[in-house]
Amino acid sequence: MPGAIDLHTHSAVSDGTQTPTQLIRDAVAAGLGAMALTDHDSTAGWQEAFAAASGTGLTVIPGMELSTNYGAASVHMLAYLFDPLNAAIVAETARIREGRLQRAERIVKKIAADYDLSWEDVLAESSDGTTLGRPHIADALVRKGHAPNRSAAFESILHWRGGYYEKYYAPSPLEGVQLIVAAGGAPVLAHPATRGKYRQMDDAFIGKLAEAGLFGLEVHHRDNTEAGKKRLIALAKKFGLEITGASDYHGVGKPNQLGENTTTQDVLDKLVARGTGSKPYFS
Ligand code: AMP
Ligand code: ZN
Ligand code: FE
Ligand code: FE
Repeated sequence: MPGAIDLHTHSAVSDGTQTPTQLIRDAVAAGLGAMALTDHDSTAGWQEAFAAASGTGLTVIPGMELSTNYGAASVHMLAYLFDPLNAAIVAETARIREGRLQRAERIVKKIAADYDLSWEDVLAESSDGTTLGRPHIADALVRKGHAPNRSAAFESILHWRGGYYEKYYAPSPLEGVQLIVAAGGAPVLAHPATRGKYRQMDDAFIGKLAEAGLFGLEVHHRDNTEAGKKRLIALAKKFGLEITGASDYHGVGKPNQLGENTTTQDVLDKLVARGTGSKPYFS
């Protein structure tokens, strides 16, 4: 779909495999009209993405995928067009990244008791300042021959029931929405209907997030179940939330392809009107 709008992508600043520059090239090659860079808990890729988009005709929406914890579940909150220098956001994302680093070390220590794997192996799969996650451990496991690819590593050793899982610090989804709104941004609940009961939020809680300024729900995402999407569409209507769709592209780290799910121009216009903490990059 030429000119398509894809509001959820990752670069190697977090757990995508492409640098922001390569990611922008991929987006141009895929014929996107607009895309959002939404690395986990980091805005470090924004400037490189803007520079790479210069002259291409691609619009880049600055964003992030904020980690939050909802009980035992890890819930992702997309954040768009917020002020990247907002002190509370800067402090909170630094705390989350530090927590992720320590958590990755704990996971690796556990795995190393059973498999040939070192912390250095994992560091070799990331660069300085990268938001570390299980995908980097997966890449190290693949390189060591313990799994054929990232997805297989996630299905086995890195699965949350695989025996090596560890949690990490993150704010609650409500705190996440409040942080993003206070920084002038527009929050969107990422893939809220994935399989697994631990991720399901009840209607009243989504209503609370809406009251706190949630902008939308990422309905069109490959990990949402069909029944879940129906429920989300009804909830969006009930609480006056917008509906987005996106690929969650991770380069070659996941099968997700740019533009496989998209957002309408009408919703993008509303998003740009809502997010006042930073501006889209119009090339
Ligand atoms: P973490 O944040 O460290 O718990 O790792 C979760 C991240 O890994 C998410 O951003 C997912 O996009 C990515 N991920 C989850 N499942 C898979 C999978 N099967 N294959 C590749 N990446 C995955
Ligand atoms: Zn990811
Ligand atoms: Fe996510
Ligand atoms: Fe994501």
